[in-house]
Amino acid sequence: MSRKRIVAGNWKMNMTPAETVGFISKLKPLVEDAEADVVVCVPAIDIVTAITATRGTNIMIGAQNMHFEESGAYTGEISPAMLESAGVKFVILGHSERREYNHETDAEINKKAIKAFEHGITPILCCGETLKQRELDLTEDFIRMQIKSALAGVSKIDVQNMIIAYEPIWAIGTGETASSEQAEEVCKTIRKCIEEMYDENTSDAVRILYGGSVNASNAAELFSQPDIDGGLVGGASLKPDFGKIVNA
Ligand code: PEP
Repeated sequence: MSRKRIVAGNWKMNMTPAETVGFISKLKPLVEDAEADVVVCVPAIDIVTAITATRGTNIMIGAQNMHFEESGAYTGEISPAMLESAGVKFVILGHSERREYNHETDAEINKKAIKAFEHGITPILCCGETLKQRELDLTEDFIRMQIKSALAGVSKIDVQNMIIAYEPIWAIGTGETASSEQAEEVCKTIRKCIEEMYDENTSDAVRILYGGSVNASNAAELFSQPDIDGGLVGGASLKPDFGKIVNA
C-alpha cells in the first residue's frame, strides 16, 4: 500500500498572529508543488489567522493541544468543537512537552483522541522514550504501552486515518537526531503493534512520522525509510528550511 507522505510543523510557543501572516506568505510558494501533505500546528492564538492566511492553498492547519470535554468550566482550555468550527484539521496529542510540563496522562490522551475523531479532527499522536529507557533497553515495551493506552477503544477505521509520531525525547530540540536505522526500527515496531491490535490493512494504512531534530540535511535520509511516512518538525518548522524538509 502506498501511503501519502506528510510533514507537519510544530511551532510550539512561537509566532504572534502578525508573524504568522508573514511566515505563511513566505512558506506558500516553497511548498505549493509538494507531493506530501503539508501541516502547520500553530499556537491557539494563531489558529484563525493561519486558517485565513492558508485558504486556497495546500497548507493545512493543526492545533497543538485540545481538551477532551465538549465545553465547561476549564479556564484556559480549548474544546474540540472550537477547533472543528475554526477549520482545524489536525491536533497534536501527547507531545512529550505536554506530558512533562502539563502532566498529561495516557488516559487523558486516549480521551482526547476519541473526541478528536468525533469532531473530524485527525490526531497526530506522539510517543517516545527517554534516554534512560533507551539505555535500559525498554524502548519497545514503553512505546507499545503508550500506543495501546492512547488507542484503547479507538476503531480501526479511525486508526487507519490517524497519524502517529515517534519522537524520542532525547532527540527533541537537542540537535541530536535518531539515526535512520534507530528511527526505522521503532516506527516498524509501532506498525507491528498496530497490526497486532487491529489487522494488516490498518497497519498498512496508518501514517507514522519521525520527529526529533529533523532538518533540511537529514530529512531525506529519514523519510526514505520504509516505515517512516514523513516528519513532525519543531525548531526547523520556524524557518524557510521547512519548505526544503517538506520537499525532501
Ligand atoms: C517536536 O517538538 O515535535 C520536535 C520534533 O522538535 P524538534 O524538531 O525541534 O526536535
